[in-house]
Amino acid sequence: MELIYGLRACGVEHDIAIPQVAVIGDQSSGKSSVLEAICSVPLPRGAGLTTRCAIELRLTNTHPEDAALPSDTEPPKREPFWLASISTSLNPKQVPLSGKAELEDAIAAHAASLTDPRQNSGFSKERVIVHIAATGSPNLTIIDLPGIIRTKTFGDFFPFIPPFGDSQDRNAIRQVSQLIQGYAAQERTILLVVIPATQDVATIEALEWAARYDPSGRRTIGVITKPDLIDKGAEREVASVLNNRRKPLKLGYIMVKNRSQKEVEEHVSVQQARENEYEFFSNHPVFSKMSRSYFGVDNLVKKVTGVLVSRLHDELPKMRSEVVQMLGKTTQELQDIGKGAGDTPAEANMTLMRIVFEYNNLLTESSAGRYVDKRL
Ligand code: GDP
Ligand code: MG
Repeated sequence: MELIYGLRACGVEHDIAIPQVAVIGDQSSGKSSVLEAICSVPLPRGAGLTTRCAIELRLTNTHPEDAALPSDTEPPKREPFWLASISTSLNPKQVPLSGKAELEDAIAAHAASLTDPRQNSGFSKERVIVHIAATGSPNLTIIDLPGIIRTKTFGDFFPFIPPFGDSQDRNAIRQVSQLIQGYAAQERTILLVVIPATQDVATIEALEWAARYDPSGRRTIGVITKPDLIDKGAEREVASVLNNRRKPLKLGYIMVKNRSQKEVEEHVSVQQARENEYEFFSNHPVFSKMSRSYFGVDNLVKKVTGVLVSRLHDELPKMRSEVVQMLGKTTQELQDIGKGAGDTPAEANMTLMRIVFEYNNLLTESSAGRYVDKRL
């Protein structure tokens, strides 16, 4: 994980894809709730995260000032902290946030700066990037994506598509599909496919997309939400998905219980929600008899981190060769540009003098009508 952050700190992700996690699924399947639980800080939902572009959350458990310390220095003991800043893929300047309360509005404002509701159905390929350093946070980069607009039951989704004409609806479907599939296609992106327990796994489009882009299943994890809403009698069917007997996934499924709408409105804290989740699975007539490893956000974080590390391990040789290739290309470009200004102030002065002298000559020649471009 440190390696990933080291690479990011060098700005490598502009040139080379770095392992990350993306959350995909239908609208209202519980994607933002899963993210919120993983981050262990309340994240904005509704208007904030149901946005029309990707939102990348870069989480670290390190205080930004500790990151700057030499590696052999023990960081000072600190009070629990929460520090965040926000930027976009178009404007990398990080704007600091003074508290969690600002997060939702800041995300909405930055997302709005990327998306124009009058164009392209209001979806954008660009990202909002939220940098969060918090005590106890996992070291993960995780991306919330717009919900899949289903083509099969398209009509169901009109409520959240603005009242555009038909062609724009089609445009919206195409744009969202391209956005999600762009992430799904990246070999170094782990896909968390979020599936409400109330829905039949056979009908989940996100699972089909994951199977298409990750046929080996090495980077797809199923996350089942809303276990408290399962109809009586349907628990065994959900258990057979968790046991990986129905619609099996190579990396399997984990079930989590997030805050319901009512709990959100009643301001149940994220911490309390974790305790409620534990109680729920411990006392459930069917789920309490199954292995604990199938349940809970803690197990989900453990699994995601493990898969991320093993993907990194598999991908490192390829990443190294990409770096070497890029280094060769850049060195060549540097040589093509020619000698620099010089290593010492005296050399740099000489170079400056030479440039001024040549510029002066050019001016004189061109005003006398004698300038000939030597490159021609
Ligand atoms: P998204 O659109 O996929 O990001 O979905 P959200 O995370 O915004 O969740 C949609 C709704 O489902 C919200 O009202 C959540 O409170 C609710 N929800 C999410 N997970 C659960 C869960 O495990 N149990 C219950 N009862 N409600 C949930
Ligand atoms: Mg959402």
